[in-house]
Amino acid sequence: MDQLSEKIVSLRTLLGAAKKAVVVTHTNPDGDATGSSLAWAHVLEHSFNLDVTCIIPNRYPGFLAWQPHIEKVLIAKEKPEEAAQQVSEADLIFCLDFNLIDRLENLAEAIKANTTARRVLIDHHLNPPAEFDLMFSYPDLCSTSYVVYRIVEELVGVDAFDTDAASNLYVGIMTDTGNFSFSFLTPDLFRAVAGLVEKGINISQINTSVYNTFTEDRVRLLGHSLCNKMTMVNHGKAAYISLTEREMRKFNFQLGDSEGFVNYPLTIVGVKISAMFLATRKFIRVSLRSRGETDVNIFARKYFGGGGHKNAAGGKSFATMAQTVEYFERVVTEYLAENKE
Ligand code: 5GP
Ligand code: MN
Repeated sequence: MDQLSEKIVSLRTLLGAAKKAVVVTHTNPDGDATGSSLAWAHVLEHSFNLDVTCIIPNRYPGFLAWQPHIEKVLIAKEKPEEAAQQVSEADLIFCLDFNLIDRLENLAEAIKANTTARRVLIDHHLNPPAEFDLMFSYPDLCSTSYVVYRIVEELVGVDAFDTDAASNLYVGIMTDTGNFSFSFLTPDLFRAVAGLVEKGINISQINTSVYNTFTEDRVRLLGHSLCNKMTMVNHGKAAYISLTEREMRKFNFQLGDSEGFVNYPLTIVGVKISAMFLATRKFIRVSLRSRGETDVNIFARKYFGGGGHKNAAGGKSFATMAQTVEYFERVVTEYLAENKE
């Protein structure tokens, strides 16, 4: 975390001059998005006396509804005028867990319209554009929640976190590391987690709240997806699952129900890239995962107008499902060959 101390000096100056802050995170928020936002908002409110509003573009999935203080989050899609008003009144805008303002979708215009507020990025995605006044961008840290932990440690000390804030950070770290099984699992990360445990968080309860609260429909949809909809490509080097709106209706699809499906094909030996295509009204949402050195961030940027991380990325397709999967089969084969996989 080079230059963290210098950036903290700039952050202190910004915080000293501010009265009202908004904390925004990406569309279709995940546990790291809500967890990091809520914990950071807590610190801004309690250690810096700021008037803080957390805003998310659309609703969080049901498995995050138990997160402490999530009821205070303003959902822009449900209250667009109030969200625009809060953004226009802010003199500091914190962007957490994403680095492209356009990923805010319905909220992006309001953010762009406030030209006097300072914008601060706190994130761990690759390739941040230069549209922020101050950037805490650390792609080699596991989660934005851990970036928040490190910033707060240096800024005011981790005593600033109460049990609720610590639980929220743990959710972000746990979900973005796939329950401590992906990359960036450093000794420092585990020391930070030990710090959260010292705050009194209940790990087994958090684990159950996030992972074991599915509906029967959701579990059956997973079964359907794996048994009937998983297709192997390129002699088993890639695999994908596609779900149409009709299938989603049949299983009473709720927001977040397909979260994690894309990881299953990667559990098959030899699979290097896994994709999930989920139909929405306007486009097909593309989720990508890879193993080891195979880079789906580059793949998502090149073929699906998206991005993300080396082993977890996403994008969109505006073609039909049939065209999208045919395109994927062709380009993934090409991409793996180019990379000598
Ligand atoms: P997920 O598959 O869980 O939706 O997303 C995996 C990763 O890819 C996340 O880190 C997310 O930020 C990134 N991602 C997903 N969709 C998009 C997209 O449309 N554009 C960009 N730039 N990144 C995305
Ligand atoms: Mn994240």
